[in-house]
Amino acid sequence: MEISKEERHILQHSLGGREMYRNHFCTNEDTVDYPACEKLVEKGLMQRRKAADWQGGGLIYNVTDEGKGVAFDNDTPAAFHTRCNDCGKFLKKKHWVSKDHSWKKHAVCGECLSGYDGPEYY
Ligand SMILES: [Zn+2]
Repeated sequence: MEISKEERHILQHSLGGREMYRNHFCTNEDTVDYPACEKLVEKGLMQRRKAADWQGGGLIYNVTDEGKGVAFDNDTPAAFHTRCNDCGKFLKKKHWVSKDHSWKKHAVCGECLSGYDGPEYY
């Protein structure tokens, strides 16, 4: 899923960061965030509803499950282990390991990997 930096920022902001302790984004048609929110709705990553008057009106966006999936699917090196854990060599992007990967704790290059036995590392 291709999303812009701004769209990703809105998804992450809506969720309160990686902890995802919340899920809403309040805005209205007059804000700079509005077009990006609408794009996210079009992509199925957010849902829009109208805020009640007692909530101050405007629009409330909620991130869908799919949106949660891509919110932190980040391409920035900061979110990845980009170097081999053994030799320190900088790795090709396809070998980067996400820092929140459920079981891969670090990245290893092909050469160092060949020294490992057991289950496939990548
Ligand atoms: Zn290595």
